[in-house]
Amino acid sequence: MTPDQLAHIRSKIEARIEEIDNALAEDDPESKPVAPDVAIGRLSRLDSMQAQQMNLAQQRRQREEKEKLESALERIEDGSYGICAYCLSPIAYERLEAMPDAVVCISCAR
Ligand SMILES: [Zn+2]
Repeated sequence: MTPDQLAHIRSKIEARIEEIDNALAEDDPESKPVAPDVAIGRLSRLDSMQAQQMNLAQQRRQREEKEKLESALERIEDGSYGICAYCLSPIAYERLEAMPDAVVCISCAR
């Protein structure tokens, strides 16, 4: 991987982390428990509880993704980024471009 390619992936990772941070910040008021005394019918209360569950699941995924991206940034810092954790071969740039948090090469992922 060339330094340019690495810089490109790095900025992609940083942009994605920012995106997740923004999404999590926006979602925050939604994650509060649904107040029982809210005067919205039984059904819509159920709906909003369901929506809240989905929201929480999505936030969990976003946090996990952010953690992976942050560890990818750490690997960029220490120079181990783009090396398959399993067979130690370089991971194809195309794969990293599509999936910057990939830790194993395409053959090991199969
Ligand atoms: Zn591998």
